[in-house]
Amino acid sequence: MKGIFLVGAGPAGLFAARQIARAGFEAFLFNRDIKPGGLAEYGIYPLKEKMKGGLRKQFAQILEMPNVRYFGHIKVGSAYDVTIEELEGMRCAAIIFACGAQGTRKLGLVGEDAKGVYAAKDFVYHYNQLPPFASMDFSTGRRIAIVGMGNVAIEIARWLLDDSPERRPENVLVIARRGPLEIKFDERELEFVERHLSRKELSRELERVKERCARCRQDVSPEKVFEHHFLLLKDAGFASVLPRLSFRFLSSPTAIVPDSDGRIAKLVVAEDELVLKEDGSTAAIPTRERTEIEVDTLIFAIGDKHDAGLGLPMGPEGFATAPNPDRPGEPSFEVWDPDARRVIPGQYVAGWARHASTGLVGIARHDGEVCAGKVIEFVSHAPECGTLGEQEILARLEAKGLRPVTKADLKLLAYAEAREAQTRQLNSFKFADNDAMLKAIAEERERMRTSRMVEQSLVPAA
Ligand SMILES: Cc1cc2nc3c(=O)[nH]c(=O)nc-3n(C[C@H](O)[C@H](O)[C@H](O)COP(=O)(O)OP(=O)(O)OC[C@H]3O[C@@H](n4cnc5c(N)ncnc54)[C@H](O)[C@@H]3O)c2cc1C
Repeated sequence: MKGIFLVGAGPAGLFAARQIARAGFEAFLFNRDIKPGGLAEYGIYPLKEKMKGGLRKQFAQILEMPNVRYFGHIKVGSAYDVTIEELEGMRCAAIIFACGAQGTRKLGLVGEDAKGVYAAKDFVYHYNQLPPFASMDFSTGRRIAIVGMGNVAIEIARWLLDDSPERRPENVLVIARRGPLEIKFDERELEFVERHLSRKELSRELERVKERCARCRQDVSPEKVFEHHFLLLKDAGFASVLPRLSFRFLSSPTAIVPDSDGRIAKLVVAEDELVLKEDGSTAAIPTRERTEIEVDTLIFAIGDKHDAGLGLPMGPEGFATAPNPDRPGEPSFEVWDPDARRVIPGQYVAGWARHASTGLVGIARHDGEVCAGKVIEFVSHAPECGTLGEQEILARLEAKGLRPVTKADLKLLAYAEAREAQTRQLNSFKFADNDAMLKAIAEERERMRTSRMVEQSLVPAA
């Protein structure tokens, strides 16, 4: 048998697995989380229920395919449960790494390990209830700063301002190195929080950075900025609601000052100068001028990076992929060994594992499918390799003391969660830690076994 292994069961891994299974090969998914879905399950905003429900349905259909196997609760990596060499020892024909970008990007500032300082993805994992983040301390206070001007930053602001059950901020401040014309939020995401802006306060902030932006030929007059990004604010009679959402532009964080309990008390920022580059883009250059901002929580929403603990060769932009000089602009999926300057045959990266923090689910799906096409071509020409079967792989994992979660276990977990939701009179329910999920699976299995025995005992003897 020629089995293709996939590390990660997010959108890229799952849609790649579907492509592989449709081509008649066996796809074996090894996933860190118990549940499949990756950021589609644990990143997408909790209230986007329709989108999440639709994706869950598609993922379940993929897992229903007989030649797609699933081993959840298995973290691959040189420092983790199973190494890449151990996977190769199971005689796979190729491996696709679709494990996303699990490293967190901070700025390396003095004081960055203070309490109350978080990376956006960890914070999002927490409120989407991914173990172990679900049960870790992500407490927030009244004055929260978010560094970054992308969709993740604005979704976190939305959660803090409107939807989080227990948080009650007074102010959520979005801090950006560049100016207001370089806001990256989608209009639709901004619409949820726009009513928390103060027209007067934002106009004052625009006035503060006006001259520095004008030097780069950027007109940041309120009329222009409101027209571009904040349509509600065009109306002079716009009524703002509390808590407040604010912006601070042209500011680069330089240090974090903790209080006597070790929690962040102040964020020091440098005022930035904007410089126009030859290609028309701008660069933010920190000056010597410093401002201290009182905050009790800081969230870095400045993108993610690849996890070096996996054991794949690293390049300047994350996992190293083969150079592609003949086809510039075309993605390269093959893992590259920069020391030996050669492709590592049979190893590929897809989705956010290929290009961190890039694009929506549809893009990750496309990336996974294109990558699967290349892998299928490679494997079709490769000799027979005798990949281990599902039971043999399970036995190897269990012999290492691991507790892999199979497709059958996922069904049991879904029953257990539905039962729990019903008992608690909720629309849905998720267990907050892995042990609770494993226990629920075991109990559900036992419940089924008992009810089968009862059913059998009721069948009249022939
Ligand atoms: C906060 C946030 C909100 C988003 N909102 C939207 C949205 O509204 N709409 C939209 O279309 N897109 C949204 N996206 C983008 C979307 O989630 C991504 O495009 C997509 O999930 C990337 O898919 P992926 O499979 O490459 O990686 P991921 O989704 O990150 O999946 C990676 C998988 O790999 C597994 N894994 C990680 N490390 C290991 C390991 N060492 N061993 C084994 N398995 C491992 C993980 O368990 C996970 O299952 C959002 C992203 C974020 C961060």
